[in-house]
Amino acid sequence: MHLKRRSFLQAAGGGLAGLLSLDQLSAAVQTATSPYQRPRLKITDVKTAYTQNLHVRIYTDQGITGDGEGVDSISGAAAIIEGFRRFLIGQDPLRVEAIWERIRTSGIFAGAQAGQFVTALGAVEIALWDLTGKALGLPIYQLLGGKVRDRVRVYCDSGTNDRKDPNAPKYIQQIIEMGFTAAKIDIDDASDPARFDRVNWTASNAEIDNMVDKVRFMRESLPSRIELAVDMHGRYDLGTAKRVAKELEPFRLLWLEEPVPPENVDALRDVRQSTHTPICCGENLFLRHGFRPLLEKQAVDIIMPDIQKCGGLLEARKIADMAHTYYVPMAPHAQASPIGMMASCHVMAAIPNALVIEWHWSHPPARLQRWRQYVKQGEIIENGYITVPDRPGIGLDINDEAVRKMVRPGTTWFS
Ligand code: MG
Repeated sequence: MHLKRRSFLQAAGGGLAGLLSLDQLSAAVQTATSPYQRPRLKITDVKTAYTQNLHVRIYTDQGITGDGEGVDSISGAAAIIEGFRRFLIGQDPLRVEAIWERIRTSGIFAGAQAGQFVTALGAVEIALWDLTGKALGLPIYQLLGGKVRDRVRVYCDSGTNDRKDPNAPKYIQQIIEMGFTAAKIDIDDASDPARFDRVNWTASNAEIDNMVDKVRFMRESLPSRIELAVDMHGRYDLGTAKRVAKELEPFRLLWLEEPVPPENVDALRDVRQSTHTPICCGENLFLRHGFRPLLEKQAVDIIMPDIQKCGGLLEARKIADMAHTYYVPMAPHAQASPIGMMASCHVMAAIPNALVIEWHWSHPPARLQRWRQYVKQGEIIENGYITVPDRPGIGLDINDEAVRKMVRPGTTWFS
């Protein structure tokens, strides 16, 4: 016999979501998740849709749904989730860790160590947390240990880095007006006329001068209260990375990101030991296992997992906890929609070592407009911060009508 949504909440304490006493909550969780009883809430369907990112919606027999998102390594992730679907249907969605671990360990020979498999699993995991929060009437941060802070600091990916860019004044003004306390620029430039070779990434002196000038321009253009991070996108060789890190020391950067590719942790540590510019890496690493050598070898000052890519919300919390034992803060990479962004903010609200999270939607103007239409709440960034809502689950209402118009050609949004 199915327990209806209403009776489920009554079992949990009178039907007033968000006002449950801990005893009642604990009893409700026990009832809903005990392996000795038939699950009270069951997954009935799992669907995916592509906008710029991958979206997952999980459906249950009581009408509650959960939303998750995956980014970057997603081109085949919908097909991977289709493979998870048969296992997920009939499961109790509140057993998030158990479901995650079952899928991960059953995929050991199917690529479950990294890449699209992990991103697909993470998107499902985020939807499970959204669902669990809605079922229990609790915000996700509460399920991750409770709030350490009410609002999460956000930095703006600047969209400009060059004094010759006609858009530069507009984008710089936008960073200041939106109240950000930090911004990031890219300094790797494949089309730099000073490059001698299209494939090899050893920078010439002139290229390094151009990189330094980009940083100087932005540092001069932004007020000193706005900190500046710099990204090299893991493209350069070790010698270039060390030279650039050294030359940028006078600018007191928030961090220098992926100065070399992320695979060789010893090379990254070599860069870190050669400079007092803080080194940051992690958007192309997966699971705790991807971050373990980075931390054990003390190769970075800051870690930057992408929470919509690295394995999910609880996995991100575990990565942050590992980093905390090395006194390393977390500054997640993020290019998710407001749904994924807010899911990440629940993690950032719950961990002690949260530094700042990325926001990548300031430019061009059409993209900013899409960001503001995604959820019925509109703009969620206020004065350079995102306040985590106290509503159940992720705590935002997707504007299905608006997002339906953003889907990738050939795919459909959820009905
Ligand atoms: Mg990056």
